[in-house]
Amino acid sequence: MPETKRYEFKGKHVLFHEMRHCIHSDKVKKKQGNREIKRQQSSRLRNTNCASTIHLRLERWRLELSHPLEVNIKFTHNHVIISAESLSFRRVNEKVRERFLELFKDGHSPASAMYTYEDELYLSAADEQELLLLLADRASNPDYEYIFNLFWQYRQDSLSDRNGSVMFRRLAEVVNDYNNSGKGRAILQEYDSRSGKAFILCVVTSLMSRVHEKILQSSEICYIDASASFEPLNTSITLLYTSCAVGALPLGLFITSDEFKITLEKALNLLKSILPQHAFYGRGVQLGPKIFLTDDSSAERNALELCWPESKDSTLIY
Ligand SMILES: [Zn+2]
Repeated sequence: MPETKRYEFKGKHVLFHEMRHCIHSDKVKKKQGNREIKRQQSSRLRNTNCASTIHLRLERWRLELSHPLEVNIKFTHNHVIISAESLSFRRVNEKVRERFLELFKDGHSPASAMYTYEDELYLSAADEQELLLLLADRASNPDYEYIFNLFWQYRQDSLSDRNGSVMFRRLAEVVNDYNNSGKGRAILQEYDSRSGKAFILCVVTSLMSRVHEKILQSSEICYIDASASFEPLNTSITLLYTSCAVGALPLGLFITSDEFKITLEKALNLLKSILPQHAFYGRGVQLGPKIFLTDDSSAERNALELCWPESKDSTLIY
């Protein structure tokens, strides 16, 4: 039951005094004030003018008694209790909220966090009856709207703006952790609008490093293709890959905030700095592959010519 009223303890006689009301009481409406009703046509009825309350009171002189807490229950619900509808109005449990924040910290999106959490609920329930209760109860199974809002609040608090300094500090930590993890190498250039520095992030995973080492075709041909429009800031993702009998295999990738020649040149040079010694099947980082295949982008081709002058460049019209 949500709290209706908390009393101030002025004297020394009363230690605790609290009144709680049913979630179907009209107190909820009064507390919400003029808040707009989101779904006017909703068949879920919250305010049934239920007058059921619990009154708790603890007085000092009663402490000596075996049952010192005075509990006054007015069990006058005017609706069905423990129904799916009633449970759907319950306040989300603090522990559940914390679990969701943990999932967001692990990199989950609102949707994937919700699925992961529901899987945990399925596993934790002892029988079907308990599972039904857990799933219907908003306290243990919050709705997507709540999860989504919590995610945005979390993002705002921990990362601030999408391209704010806190976000880049966090990204620098992630890059650092990644480099120490032994799973591959990454390098970052922070975005700085004042000095005109573009955002660049280059990644060479262990798989990419192995493709350089083991696949002969990586010395011969390298495709470069940039794609964008994946997210609101419209950063561009450029993938370098080769093709062999099994299909296309990745050699490296970089993410940039724009596709100007100067940015691409810097990105390629940063990528070169993290490529393995045996890059391009032993031809080495400086020599590069024999041929680059690019699409019809002069900025891309110019940048490639500057970074790998020995390689031939062919245009591919996609
Ligand atoms: Zn009630």
